[in-house]
Amino acid sequence: MATDEDLERRLRAIDGRGYPAYKSLKGSYDFGPFALSIDHVQGDPFAAPSQVSICVHAETAAFPPELFDALHRRVALEDLLLRRFAAEVARASYVVRGSGKSGLIATSVPGPEVFVRSACEVTADGAVIVRLEAGFPAHGRTIDARALDRMLFDLIPSCAERALVCDRAALASARAAADLADDRARARAELARRGLVAFVADGSILPRASGISCRPLEGAVPFDSPQSLRATLDLPHRGPTTGMGIPCGVTLVVGGGFHGKSTLLKALQEGVYDHVGGDGREFVITDATAVKVRSEDGRPVAGVDISPFITNLPDGSDTGRFSTLDASGSTSQAAATIEAIDAGTRVLLIDEDTSATNFMVRDELMEAVVAADHEPITPFVERVRSLWEHQGVSCIIVVGSSGAFFPMADTVIQMDRYRAHDVTKRVREVCSERGVVPAASSDGGDVLVGGRGHAARIGAGRGGAGKPLKVRTQGLDGFSVGNGSVDLRRVEQLVDPEQVRALAQLMRVIIERRLTDGTRSAQDVAASLLERVARRGWKEIAPRAEVPCGLALPRVQELCACIDRWRRDAGGI
Ligand code: ADP
Ligand code: MG
Repeated sequence: MATDEDLERRLRAIDGRGYPAYKSLKGSYDFGPFALSIDHVQGDPFAAPSQVSICVHAETAAFPPELFDALHRRVALEDLLLRRFAAEVARASYVVRGSGKSGLIATSVPGPEVFVRSACEVTADGAVIVRLEAGFPAHGRTIDARALDRMLFDLIPSCAERALVCDRAALASARAAADLADDRARARAELARRGLVAFVADGSILPRASGISCRPLEGAVPFDSPQSLRATLDLPHRGPTTGMGIPCGVTLVVGGGFHGKSTLLKALQEGVYDHVGGDGREFVITDATAVKVRSEDGRPVAGVDISPFITNLPDGSDTGRFSTLDASGSTSQAAATIEAIDAGTRVLLIDEDTSATNFMVRDELMEAVVAADHEPITPFVERVRSLWEHQGVSCIIVVGSSGAFFPMADTVIQMDRYRAHDVTKRVREVCSERGVVPAASSDGGDVLVGGRGHAARIGAGRGGAGKPLKVRTQGLDGFSVGNGSVDLRRVEQLVDPEQVRALAQLMRVIIERRLTDGTRSAQDVAASLLERVARRGWKEIAPRAEVPCGLALPRVQELCACIDRWRRDAGGI
């Protein structure tokens, strides 16, 4: 490996030359306690910044092995080190000045969730790798090598030294993060063992400061579990932790408007992810396969069997293999339900605020006027019991407006001024007073939905031979790959733009390698590709030989959502 002195020499040699001479710096340099790699060099000062990585050797980083010997603890340590590094980097950026992105130093800045991210990796033996972007400085197009010297020899290494070496403060926060990760892992395991689909710890803060903030709302009413749903989890570090356990089956969340129903559901839908200490939702834990299902009119649907919900469409289209470029509210929600089950979910999360009413319920008066044989939809309320009883898929449904789901429910939670009450008994009484019988398990054990879908074939688009397809992402809204795109604005469980960036690269790989050949399910394609990334690392989906920062590992469910929403542009129009 070249040394830091070689790098210094190369820098001196290109000072004052044209910008492309920076390309000669590409490579890895031994700096003693760490190695610095220039992985990719930008083409000009205004282009996307260069990529640099630092590998702090295990002896220098010196975190005790028990902080990274299990996967969940290693992920927690990576997350913590990245947060520390990002804080240092924010201070160092633009100390150096010049044209375009000169002097920029940037890395991933995590939100409240803990993700596996390409920006930081702790290796099996304890070395710490961080990846960052650096704007190589220039005046006009003339290389300012002295300024880059300052970035590479002073600014970036001191960020790494301050953030990634195990001093007393780093050790204390790393231990706290590892303990939290242990407790979360135990809580998740307990959930499964006790037949719960979710757990909300007492004292949790569910609402966020605003619709666009992920900070906890100040002065919020802390969560308090109703006695009858209370569960106590014995966590290794936190000790006995009480909270509301939501059992498997059909659960309703009812209550007046503005009483906190949607806030609870939102916390549950994000409870599939781990959250950092201080977030308020550290112990809001939802079955990791849970999927928020909603209506999404206008989306494309490709070959989904929505016949359990919808048959006899007026245009005669085959709902056993339903395809459209422009789904309606009800057909989109039917497709999303089937797709979620095909993607391996055990829990559907549904909010009336984001549902198509005609997909959810139909009342007797309407039935009297519009005869069943003129209505293509079997509403969800008629399927929800068999989903649970015959397929083991639980539902948590927010309903404020209709009691139609009452006879189907195993558990009914009322949110009243942000407090949860168990009103299951009361609902049973009301139902029996009015002669409404609880739903019998109908359908004779048929598997109603799912398990039959093959993902539609996704074409290769216009990629040049050997060249990766062009990938563009737009925050949380979606991405394009080659001449196709995915709209993710209604895929609500995506919370971090880095998930979308990773999804875009995953889709690029799926397309380039033609993994959806029309015979495999989306779940099969998504799960095996993600498993490959978990086993072999980010290089599996990196667009170049080097791994960039800025990717966060998504779930199988969201990758399936992308495959299911792929839209090929109507080329030329
Ligand atoms: P619903 O779905 O029942 O109509 P929301 O969940 O949308 O109600 O909540 C309504 C408002 O109450 C939101 O602005 C939310 O931030 C706020 N809110 C929710 N839970 C709490 C709480 N525990 N403490 C304080 N405010 C809350
Ligand atoms: Mg609501």
